[in-house]
Amino acid sequence: INVFYQPIEKIAAVVETYPKGIAGFSRYRDLLATEPDIADRPDAVAVEAVRGGVGFEGVGFGYDPGRPILKGVDLVVRPGETVAFVGPSGAGKSTLLSLVPRFYDVGAGRITIDGRDVRDFTLASLRRQIGIVQQDVFLFAGTIGENIAYGRLGATEEEIMAAARRARLGEMIDSLPNGLGTVVGERGVQLSGGQKQRVAIARVFLKDPPILILDEATSALDSETEHAIQAALSELSQGRTTLVIAHRLATIRHADRIVVISDGRVAEHGDHDRLVAAGGRYRQLVEAQALTLAGAS
Ligand code: ATP
Repeated sequence: INVFYQPIEKIAAVVETYPKGIAGFSRYRDLLATEPDIADRPDAVAVEAVRGGVGFEGVGFGYDPGRPILKGVDLVVRPGETVAFVGPSGAGKSTLLSLVPRFYDVGAGRITIDGRDVRDFTLASLRRQIGIVQQDVFLFAGTIGENIAYGRLGATEEEIMAAARRARLGEMIDSLPNGLGTVVGERGVQLSGGQKQRVAIARVFLKDPPILILDEATSALDSETEHAIQAALSELSQGRTTLVIAHRLATIRHADRIVVISDGRVAEHGDHDRLVAAGGRYRQLVEAQALTLAGAS
């Protein structure tokens, strides 16, 4: 289940900007319906210019009271570090990271950014600190330029195109008759799954947040597209704290740290070589995916 349906911009802003006909608008309504308790505290402060350290302190959470998903996750992520989360399907990786931008609030413990509880911040300012690239990319009816500018409303055309190039979309856009002004979606040019993902990456380049959450694609892409996306993502993660939900272990072996989530807790963490040598859960996962342990890196 993908708990990252929601683009993270403030819902009110979206509603004001695109009052009608926004593709997938019902998702916002669903979101509103599922998170009635997520609101600014009366004394919430706007957070600015964080360094990007993320702390998980005894984090507990369940969607249903009787069924805990997270049972006490403890982890300290340093500013700029790339941490990949792995574990069996349904272990709670997506759920854990959805608590950082407060799509849900922790049931126990707390999540901090630069040492301060995320619930101390206004939602809008918190979510400005976090960029998300997920599998299901949300495109609305409009031009490709407008869809990228959604990362930062008010960006100039030069800024949008620069972000598109960094996301490896430059050649594709150059080849379109109307460039950034080309309408996408049902009434215009259809984008492939890989191109949509690069739109999502371009949005985050524009937004330029200190913290990045990547929900890695599970669906197979052709190897050229895959390569372009990996290159764009690795550039995107430079200088940002990056939290990756990993499904394919091969793409995360160079993460600074790999965290195995199992039974609602951190089962082990370390870099690839250390965890393989430790012979624990990670190694089992690696062997299950038949990744060549001694393969060239
Ligand atoms: P995967 O690798 O398959 O993406 P995951 O480790 O990311 O799995 P989650 O998606 O976080 O796991 O799901 C953890 C558990 O929570 C699963 O049992 C899932 O069915 C449940 N779950 C996820 N989202 C919701 C939701 N919105 N409402 C209720 N239950 C949910």
